[in-house]
Amino acid sequence: MSEENKNIRSYPWGHERRFNAYSNYFRNIYGARVQKVSIDAGFTCPNRDGSKGSGGCTYCNNDAFNPSYCQPAKSVSDQIGEGIEFHKWRYSEAVSYLAYFQAFSNTYAPIDRLKALYEEALNYPGVIGLIIGTRPDCIDDEKLAYLKKLSEKNYIAVEYGIESCYNKTLLRINRGHTFEEAESAVRKTAALGINTGAHFIFGLPGESREEMLEQAGIISSLPLKTVKFHQLQIIKGTAMEKEFLSKPSDFKLFSWEEYLEFFITFIERMNPSIVIERFTGEAPLRFLTGEGWGKKRTDQIVSLIEKRMEELDTWQGRLYKDKR
Ligand code: SF4
Repeated sequence: MSEENKNIRSYPWGHERRFNAYSNYFRNIYGARVQKVSIDAGFTCPNRDGSKGSGGCTYCNNDAFNPSYCQPAKSVSDQIGEGIEFHKWRYSEAVSYLAYFQAFSNTYAPIDRLKALYEEALNYPGVIGLIIGTRPDCIDDEKLAYLKKLSEKNYIAVEYGIESCYNKTLLRINRGHTFEEAESAVRKTAALGINTGAHFIFGLPGESREEMLEQAGIISSLPLKTVKFHQLQIIKGTAMEKEFLSKPSDFKLFSWEEYLEFFITFIERMNPSIVIERFTGEAPLRFLTGEGWGKKRTDQIVSLIEKRMEELDTWQGRLYKDKR
């Protein structure tokens, strides 16, 4: 691209990065960096405790994604305090925090328990909001009405694990819900003005590259504020590890080079108004079957993707067709 074109290009998200980036999204709202602090509040999950299923999703091992300061034996306040200390030395400029209820299904409890936990977090000095990770089948009208009320004075986001837009995949990975249930939860939440996010995994067994790419159109048509994407990683000790070891040909595990090209093709088709929070997952190597991407960190992959987008002169939504 010529220097002249570089100067005149402006993206709908209002900054120069080639995708609608989560960190810039918060800078636009609050004028400063906002840091998430993870919490394990001791929830479980209906796909593990027998009410919906048992054994959980075939890839699930929450330990692989939980920061070390998150331990349900500690109070919410203690975890936030330790989380803030943990992040302080890395990001000295963070001034506000979001309490991220991360482990398992964080709306899977009676409303009174949720209120006590969420309000303890919101009362912690410096915490300006909540991000609540949950399943689409763990929300109801009463909980949504409460979250809507909280959202009048705080930043509130509900982040649904959807993982795939295909029911054949959701069945195979034992999610215990359909895509239609996920879509309904997303639409209900967004209709109340609550920030609505979703999480997806690329490389799940049985999905072709074309099917994965097709999801860009489906995801783009949902009223989502944010999305997170992960490449599939096979975590030790999971049901998926057994499946993978017995039939590796059923899996398409991306090398980081393949993922980079795939991901750019994917986000070219994505709705530019959806903020992208994550490009990749980063489970510690000790949890992985195989070598994964070695020591490549998420921020390095993001830089490589952005560099490649620059070379290709492309951006999120370049090929997006609004079909809503
Ligand atoms: S819904 Fe989440 S916590 Fe529950 S089994 Fe699946 S991945 Fe694990």
